[in-house]
Amino acid sequence: MTTTSSAALTDGPVYRGSSLELVGLRMAYGDVDVLRGVDIAVPAGSTTCVIGPSGSGKSTMLRGVNRLHEPQGGDVLLDGESALQLKPDVLRRRIGLVFQHFNLFPDHTALENVALALRKVKGMSKADARELAAARLAEVGLAERAGHRPRDLSGGQQQRVAIARALALEPEVMLFDEVTSALDPELVKGVLTLMATLGQRGMTMVVVTHEMGFAGKAADQVVFMDEGKVVEAGDPAQLFSDPASPRLRRFLSEVL
Ligand code: ADP
Ligand code: MG
Repeated sequence: MTTTSSAALTDGPVYRGSSLELVGLRMAYGDVDVLRGVDIAVPAGSTTCVIGPSGSGKSTMLRGVNRLHEPQGGDVLLDGESALQLKPDVLRRRIGLVFQHFNLFPDHTALENVALALRKVKGMSKADARELAAARLAEVGLAERAGHRPRDLSGGQQQRVAIARALALEPEVMLFDEVTSALDPELVKGVLTLMATLGQRGMTMVVVTHEMGFAGKAADQVVFMDEGKVVEAGDPAQLFSDPASPRLRRFLSEVL
């Protein structure tokens, strides 16, 4: 667990993350196999960071977990239950996904972006949605930016709005796909701090990232993927200091 602190985030909720398990997950695009049997167990309330070279199947794996792309085989267990048996919209309410590109509505304020999701997905009244949206924005340290449109926010703030929007739906698991990759370097830290805080507060998280410092501090487990397979997984300190496989050793020598 990380020791990163943030004064803006001290008063916040405790999340009740559920466990997530990928069991022999197989995925393909057409007849090209991209995931060739991936097993990853993420205990409730823990953080797993996924690292690996570009094209190794990390994004595809996250897309399979919440079925933006249907798996070919294997299973995903959410709190022990087969996620493949759930309706996709129910599943996506229970597992939030945040991407590199935040996809906020440009003509709506931060508050409206979060409130619109609540109205659409949860069918909340406008007043209730706005009240809850304000609370969620406060959680990510953006109470004072609620009335700003995306173009008047920094990239890091926009990404935090996107995270607040996902959190507003009260997911049991959050998936993050390289959420800091498109940000200017000075904006990365605020987003990483927020993710670390969510992890400390009990959210179950799968974080695909190139930020090895974050993985080393915030992850309970690091998973190294290559060519659609998990090559190595384990405790971050151990994995980084003493990688077992030549492929991970080579990858680390290139990125560290
Ligand atoms: P990563 O996120 O680790 O960079 P991806 O999951 O994006 O890897 O990609 C894994 C493989 O699947 C790559 O070979 C990529 O070219 C291929 N791929 C990704 N998305 C598509 C798609 N929509 N159609 C066809 N092939 C894809
Ligand atoms: Mg990717």
